[in-house]
Amino acid sequence: MAKMCEKVWSKCLEIIKDNVPKNSYKTWFEPIIPLDLEDNILIIQVPSTFFYEFIEEQFIDLLKKTLHKVIGPDVKLEYHVVMEHNVSSEKPYTVKIPAKDKTPLSNTPVQVPLDFERKSIVNPFIIPGIKKLHVDPQLNPDYTFDNFVEGDCNRLVRSAGYAVAENPGKTAFNPLFIYGGSGLGKTHLGQAIGIEVKTRYPEKVVLYVNANKFLTQYMEATRNNNRNDFIHFYQMIDVLIVDDVQYFAKKDGTQEVFFHIFNHLHQHNKQLVLTSDKAPVELSGMEQRLLSRFKWGLSADLQEPDFETRIKVLKKKTYKDGIEIEEEILEYIASHVTSNMRELEGALISLLAQSTLNKKEITMELAKDMIDKLVKSTRREISLDYIQKIVCNYFSMPVEILSSKTRKREIVQARQIAMFFAKSMTKNSLAAIGASIGGKDHATVLHACKTVNNLIETDKKFKKDLKEIEKRLNM
Ligand code: ADP
Ligand code: MG
Repeated sequence: MAKMCEKVWSKCLEIIKDNVPKNSYKTWFEPIIPLDLEDNILIIQVPSTFFYEFIEEQFIDLLKKTLHKVIGPDVKLEYHVVMEHNVSSEKPYTVKIPAKDKTPLSNTPVQVPLDFERKSIVNPFIIPGIKKLHVDPQLNPDYTFDNFVEGDCNRLVRSAGYAVAENPGKTAFNPLFIYGGSGLGKTHLGQAIGIEVKTRYPEKVVLYVNANKFLTQYMEATRNNNRNDFIHFYQMIDVLIVDDVQYFAKKDGTQEVFFHIFNHLHQHNKQLVLTSDKAPVELSGMEQRLLSRFKWGLSADLQEPDFETRIKVLKKKTYKDGIEIEEEILEYIASHVTSNMRELEGALISLLAQSTLNKKEITMELAKDMIDKLVKSTRREISLDYIQKIVCNYFSMPVEILSSKTRKREIVQARQIAMFFAKSMTKNSLAAIGASIGGKDHATVLHACKTVNNLIETDKKFKKDLKEIEKRLNM
């Protein structure tokens, strides 16, 4: 049988639900746990002091009215705040708040825990010597939209990024979640958004931060009992760009704090831009509530650059550096360095270095020489096309058949096997794999991987086939 307090609280929730936006309800009321109702005191547990503060600021009137209606006019409300793990020995910190009181609730004496002192905000990005609160946005002036070459591989994300920069916090792309393999331009694009916002709206507080740096800052803040300052600092930001959020995996404390920051910014129509090496569905070690928020806006991926884009990038870079290289040579580089923008850039830089150091002209010969060495030293990642070719060869079927609509078992299975190897042997996202193998979506690829894993366990012949295909792929 449900406890009295639970019954009462669920009645309250019904009323609250009708009076606040769905997202707010989910964020701020679902996590509350009713603990006890005795002597007209309802005790509810909230996850953090920040939560308590926020409810006090935003929802106390509603809460008061609701409690009066459901429990009666003499009701009192007490919060139990789950203490952060760093304060180990302390009992849960309790704030007693008489709901009947005429004085504003926030003025009631509150027992203040150690890490909840109101100090001046410690701003980890503050520029010393400047009096006015000023956040250095941590932007690299080279990473502009102008310098970010557009191509089929990035058109959607680029234009979404641009839309966000034009109207931060006002588009449906909040958060904008950019994902893709290493060297495909996530950092560049995230920064470009920041630079564009700063150009258009100099007064907006923009901050680019790598998730790793956020993590370290947070740990430091916790150690120094500045956790709340840390949170307050991040809550002031208008456009927050967090790069490489995959680093939050398995870091529960950081995820929790980021969750609060995210909610606060999102509710105040501040813009969030997140990047990651994986799509939200593929991120492991992340709390579900955080993942579901990542999917609120738009998630879009940067794909491997196509030949045309690679040429454009090379031209842009040579032009920017004021160097002339024959078209034919650029084409040679673009057709041999294919996997990502960073390697493409690297190839160009070593070619320039070679030519300067040895005082040689940039000739086709020099380019070939250098590229050969480069390609040899970085064993190329197996391509999706190659996997499909090998799998189809093994089953003696034409490659095109993987894209056909047929439900024939052998073909479906071959496609699943190709997807499985694409997932385990390449860095492509599920979406990219699905798109290239049969024009399917990420869920189909996920399902394929599960099916193949199951069959490996249960079907000996299947397992042997797979071993053989793997051998051929590695040859
Ligand atoms: P990621 O963060 O995804 O690993 P980066 O943003 O660091 O990749 O990009 C790697 C390099 O490639 C950077 O020097 C960046 O300027 C360059 N780059 C990436 N995408 C583009 C593009 N579309 N146009 C021009 N340069 C690009
Ligand atoms: Mg990066």
